[in-house]
Amino acid sequence: MFKITIRGQIEEIDDKFYLACADGNKFKISSSQEYVQGDFLWEVVPSIDPEGVIQSLQMQSFSTEGEEECFMAGTVVQLRQKNSSVQLKIKRSLKKTLRLTLLSAPLETMKAGQTWWVSCIRQGKSLLISTAEQLETNQEPPRSLSELSPVAVEPKQTEKAAFLELEKKAIATLATQTNSAADSWRLKKPKIRENIIEWDAINTTTNGRARVQLNRETEETNIWSFNKTPKTANISEEDKRRLIVTPLGAARSIGASCFQIKIGPYEIVLDCGTRPKGYDPLPALDYLENPDLLLVSHSHQDHIGAVPVFQAIWPGTPIICTEGTREIARVMLRDCLKVQQREDFPELFDSDDLERTLFRMETAPVGVDIEPLPGLIVRFINAGHILGAACIYLRYRFASENETIEERSLLYTGDFHTASSRTTTGLMLKDLPQADMLIIESTYGAGTHPSRRTEETGLIEAIASVVKAGGNVLIPAFALGRAQEIILAIRTSALFH
Ligand SMILES: [Zn+2]
Repeated sequence: MFKITIRGQIEEIDDKFYLACADGNKFKISSSQEYVQGDFLWEVVPSIDPEGVIQSLQMQSFSTEGEEECFMAGTVVQLRQKNSSVQLKIKRSLKKTLRLTLLSAPLETMKAGQTWWVSCIRQGKSLLISTAEQLETNQEPPRSLSELSPVAVEPKQTEKAAFLELEKKAIATLATQTNSAADSWRLKKPKIRENIIEWDAINTTTNGRARVQLNRETEETNIWSFNKTPKTANISEEDKRRLIVTPLGAARSIGASCFQIKIGPYEIVLDCGTRPKGYDPLPALDYLENPDLLLVSHSHQDHIGAVPVFQAIWPGTPIICTEGTREIARVMLRDCLKVQQREDFPELFDSDDLERTLFRMETAPVGVDIEPLPGLIVRFINAGHILGAACIYLRYRFASENETIEERSLLYTGDFHTASSRTTTGLMLKDLPQADMLIIESTYGAGTHPSRRTEETGLIEAIASVVKAGGNVLIPAFALGRAQEIILAIRTSALFH
């Protein structure tokens, strides 16, 4: 059994026929002949593309009365997570087999090869599944819709269709603002924060990358292109080999971690943190000339706190960190801003600087080489310190006078830990490559520490004894990293269950 009806009237434009619906949608009619004029309910056979969009209709018959309806039984050919669609192969007696893509498929329950009986509602140019039931092989489909036990129609399904519209809008804005073809852009999985939807996008033609944000309520869009700005300066043979490290903060102290690295033709900055107390909070940014790139190891304030300041001074310079670091930076930097506004702390940046920084921070996967500038290869290596924390392995590759490829390299550990904790896996020494120069964190490095297990057990037992005696426990802990570790240690301890 197969039936799809759509209400509308036939329109002729440039010798082609269309079915025009009351909701503004027009469908091309694949066969041309004389059609009856007026508003009718047409029984049609659609051709639907793999994205779920109706391309054209074959008109079968028409009637004056009735509602739009759509039901069919078919074999599942393909399921796609991306737009929650199913492609059904529908056999019809004495007629051509159809392949139709329907949206809002119950993906969790459907499997390729199964036969399903579905009914749909039309939304715009797509058919969305409203009820669906699996049929046994050789089982006859029910004769009427009332025999069908419906799967719950989630309100989400219309949301899904609305979401596809938003994706289209994002791509259209990307295409106009970057002056490129819309079909060359692919959106990655979106991040949704309240009304803001954010996609990282890649242009399959130019390999260009961009980020797009769309406000669901105001429909405002915001675009940032991660453009490569290669330095073309002719550099001397000597400069190609240079590797000069200048600490602009930290180094014999805690706070304001920041290093200037001159490697080959580039000026790279590793971390850009603040000092915690508010006195002389910034690293010596004045020493920087015209940095080509800022790489951030993790989201503790002493490594990331001054990134919005850096961004305000050098707005076009790319900032790259891991995905985890950017996610946590959202919380940490907002917190830094609050502290500045409330306490006796100089105001280093405002909320516009902050939002701009977060929007423009690029992310790179852990353990993978990327080439953010020509000849400059960067790899983030899991550092085991807090979620998202990474060591940074930096290499500059160049051809020497005799055409052999040479390399200068540097390994910056950032803060690291070799043991696994509850929120991160420890640094694996075997992941660390050889390098010409090593910058290593040495906090707590001079002594031998008791095992984590011993310390944790002691802490939990102390808490338990106070709680048992009817007391309250206040545990001062760093907000990011330690606090979560302690909470998890308490939660998972048998003493509290
Ligand atoms: Zn740290």
